[in-house]
Amino acid sequence: MDIAEFRRRGKEMVDYVADYIETIEQRQVYPDVEPGYLRPLIPTEAPLEPETYEDVIRDIERVIMPGITHWHSPYFYAYFPAASSFPAMLADMLCGAIGCIGFSWAASPACTELETVMLDWLGKMLQLPDDFLAGTHGQGGGVIQSTASEATLVSLLAARCKAVRLVQASDPQSSEADILSKLVAYTSDQAHSSVERAGLIGGVRMKKVPTDDSYSIKGAMLKKMMEEDKAAGLIPFYLCATLGTTPSCAFDHISELGPICNAEKIWMHIDAAYAGSAFICPEFRPLLNGVEFADSFNLNPHKWLLINFDCSTMWVKKRSDIIGAFKMDPLYLTHENQESGLVTDYRHWQIPLGRRFRSLKMWFVFRMYGLKGLQAHIRKQVGLAKEFESLVRADKRFEICAEVIMGLVCFRLKGSNELNEALLKKINHARRIHLVPCQLSGRFVLRFAVCARSTESHHIEEAWRHITQLTFELLQEPAH
Ligand code: PLP
Repeated sequence: MDIAEFRRRGKEMVDYVADYIETIEQRQVYPDVEPGYLRPLIPTEAPLEPETYEDVIRDIERVIMPGITHWHSPYFYAYFPAASSFPAMLADMLCGAIGCIGFSWAASPACTELETVMLDWLGKMLQLPDDFLAGTHGQGGGVIQSTASEATLVSLLAARCKAVRLVQASDPQSSEADILSKLVAYTSDQAHSSVERAGLIGGVRMKKVPTDDSYSIKGAMLKKMMEEDKAAGLIPFYLCATLGTTPSCAFDHISELGPICNAEKIWMHIDAAYAGSAFICPEFRPLLNGVEFADSFNLNPHKWLLINFDCSTMWVKKRSDIIGAFKMDPLYLTHENQESGLVTDYRHWQIPLGRRFRSLKMWFVFRMYGLKGLQAHIRKQVGLAKEFESLVRADKRFEICAEVIMGLVCFRLKGSNELNEALLKKINHARRIHLVPCQLSGRFVLRFAVCARSTESHHIEEAWRHITQLTFELLQEPAH
């Protein structure tokens, strides 16, 4: 492909993408394919001779689209949203074209500098304490990780390193292996599986703190567990609190948990992967009160802030905590400005070396939506979830299973888990809408998450009509 063809094909691709998005509702949201469907549709070897662009593009509808779950369809209500917007897609194109690998300031100064400023912009939208911002006299700053899972892992590894140093400072004879074997981290029994995984990867115990009847952890329970662990000779060092849990979007009481962690020198990380975006709205910001006690905080703009995957923003109160844990300086990565104290080399803030110019997406989206446009997006989706909640509440056969605070509604048919499993199966087999379940207090619950940017009231009404129709059919079946 030469530059002239690239110009032509690029414009055609934008048209294809625009058509895809404009007509996405006409596609079945969940595919009909069976595992292994794709292999027989394409050759077993890469082609020896080049093919044409037409050959490739023809196969998109034949090979790829039949196996796509359409996350941006207004009939997609599963998991949590994957953000998407036109400015972010265009910025992603430019990011691909620039194609820099911004591991150090010198590797592409704009890549690093825009990221630092964008994290400050978003930090200010969230009203984060100044300690977390880079453009202040504080010691903090922000970084884009690929995912919330990585942000949790990075925070846990940094906390682990800090804990070992702290113990060795007071007891220089203690070996690192001995300290590591005594470290204990905590999270809620509702936390995302990536938190438990971070413990596994980091080689430390991870204990699950039981939640109250609103699925949140409170200070007293954490304190009790920590006291017991300390009495048993263990060393509590890390808490991952969640704001907006995956099963039910519950909020841990961080203003109670934070002071306990601070008093015990325990690193508090906050995972607000989904719900964190909503804190740009003043009415939701009180849920973030207590962030001032945290050592690190993370949210995924690629979930709810109109920035296409990947973009997971993480702030730390003390940059030296993570840089100190991960710093490696082989000669081929050093540059003459690195000791000036003025530059950030993001490779020290993350696990991989390479990194894309993801802050371009933030810059385009923040400028073209403005804070008001972003707030309107969040409010609209919360409003749609409330509409769905009202429809569920008005039908006496159903119950709401957790308080609806953001864009997620947890609901079920009053009755057995088997009945609800059968309902979900019927919904997903019909393939008109797509939902996933969760378990709350041992009960099988259906999760309805408002996801697509283009979801409107009439989609919510249509989804509910469909669910009630399938419920009617289910309840007619002899077994029920
Ligand atoms: N934390 C929470 C609360 C989540 O809901 C999710 C995903 O939904 C994750 C972490 C994992 O996100 P990621 O895919 O960015 O690692």
